[in-house]
Amino acid sequence: MQTRMLADRYGRVATDLRVSLTDRCNLRCTYCMPAEGLDWLPSKSTLTDDEVVRLVRIGVELLGVREVRFTGGEPLLRRGLTDIVRRTKAVDPAVEVSITTNALGLARTAHALAAAGLDRVNVSLDTVRRDTFTQITRRDRLADVLGGLAAAEEAGVAPVKVNAVLMRGVNDDQAPELLQWAVAEGYALRFIEQMPLDAQHGWSRADMVTADEIVERLSAQFTLTPAAEPRGSAPAELFLVDGGPATVGIIASVTRPFCGDCDRVRLTADGQVRNCLFARDESDLRAALRAGATDAEIADRWVVAMSGKLPGHGIDDPTFLQPDRPMSAIGG
Ligand code: SAM
Ligand code: SF4
Repeated sequence: MQTRMLADRYGRVATDLRVSLTDRCNLRCTYCMPAEGLDWLPSKSTLTDDEVVRLVRIGVELLGVREVRFTGGEPLLRRGLTDIVRRTKAVDPAVEVSITTNALGLARTAHALAAAGLDRVNVSLDTVRRDTFTQITRRDRLADVLGGLAAAEEAGVAPVKVNAVLMRGVNDDQAPELLQWAVAEGYALRFIEQMPLDAQHGWSRADMVTADEIVERLSAQFTLTPAAEPRGSAPAELFLVDGGPATVGIIASVTRPFCGDCDRVRLTADGQVRNCLFARDESDLRAALRAGATDAEIADRWVVAMSGKLPGHGIDDPTFLQPDRPMSAIGG
């Protein structure tokens, strides 16, 4: 029975839980990770499947969580993923369960995930050109991603969303081509502004491809009209493509932040609550779990962690400091 809420001092209530299941990945996207990878979390620091499911259950039953998204790192690398999805759905079938994935291996697992109750999948794909894909991800695996997308669609995990990051001089000229492909395939495409969350600290505001530029580039080939749907807490601004029904989303996390409507809370693979992607503080639920805390005690700790959420990410403040953990270790 829900007794508390994950509220902060600015009137926001978190109901959307993002759980990182691993910090490891089989790609090396340049805006996310260095070529050599990172120092992965030792396995004893990583939450077990039982610990993940217990924290999810506390979030849902005691704290009002309504959506659970598994991410990473690459969540498909987590052996117990299907079981974790099934057990999450069993906590409350009304809770929407989704994954954000690079889709490597999804061709093999999509049906089992759908049968376990997975509601939605977001696939990250920045280009449909093989050479550009290899340049961005440092792996020649485009065909596997396309196969994974098709399998998700076939398994009925719809609508399949595709998330793309544009990088200047790499794939920014390919935005219309990517949209044309997505519309033809029936995938809902969303462009995300690149954020200062790469492990190498190579992000620069001046280099970032802005939402305005993305709209301008797409408008050279398509007529975009704002979709009537209210934006609410969904971060994407939606546009109808050539009058619809196809849409394209633009997530302007940097140039038009939506922090005031944020309803998210994050849990890292080693059991730390982060009240924001850009938070510099974390709260250790794993220690509480392993010290034998009750559900109510863990919920209390989680509520306190949320109450300290800052009003915004502050990327434009001169004092902005990138968080110590990169995106792949936070759970994007
Ligand atoms: N490996 C999975 C994937 O790529 O979908 C899940 C984890 S990944 C960190 C989640 C999302 O974060 C992906 O859509 C990826 O494109 C995005 N991402 C990673 N680094 C980013 C950055 N610096 N700025 C914006 N988005 C980023
Ligand atoms: Fe891996 Fe996803 Fe980061 Fe790419 S964005 S390196 S697929 S975690």
